[in-house]
Amino acid sequence: EEVEIVSLCRQVARNFSQTSNRIVQVIAKPEEVIYETDANRFEQVLIILVDNALKYSETDVTVSIEVVEEVLMIRVQDQGIGIPKQDIPHVFERFYRVDPSRTRSTGGSGLGLSIAKSIVDSLGGRIAIESEVGVGTTVNISFLIKF
Ligand code: ATP
Repeated sequence: EEVEIVSLCRQVARNFSQTSNRIVQVIAKPEEVIYETDANRFEQVLIILVDNALKYSETDVTVSIEVVEEVLMIRVQDQGIGIPKQDIPHVFERFYRVDPSRTRSTGGSGLGLSIAKSIVDSLGGRIAIESEVGVGTTVNISFLIKF
């Protein structure tokens, strides 16, 4: 189905802003991006990434959407606790959690990112993570746009 990605991202951001009392900002360039995908699964990935960004940080979260040449890129960025270098290669594994004690009591199961990766794979995209302890984390998902 044809999905307008920017409004989908804004909707997810609005829902989190309302329920978490935190600011989830969306920056889009261009303001409208039509992409052929599965809206529900796409939304599920965003929910996992924004939920993590809020869970592991205390400041605003930014979702940026960009089309560069033929690639649609969506970044979910936080300025939170970050992930140690040695853990980064493992965070997409099922049940992998960097340090359960870092998370609030509501903490997770270590499944979110593995589910996000399998959905992104099934949608034909890529997922990558950049992180630095004490600086923050950026998860990047990208999709090739076929014109
Ligand atoms: P859930 O299944 O509820 O998402 P989770 O957050 O523990 O639980 P994942 O989403 O798979 O599981 O993330 C795996 C681990 O990667 C987390 O336990 C956390 O340590 C680390 N992590 C994920 N996202 C971030 C982030 N934005 N900032 C810092 N650490 C993160």
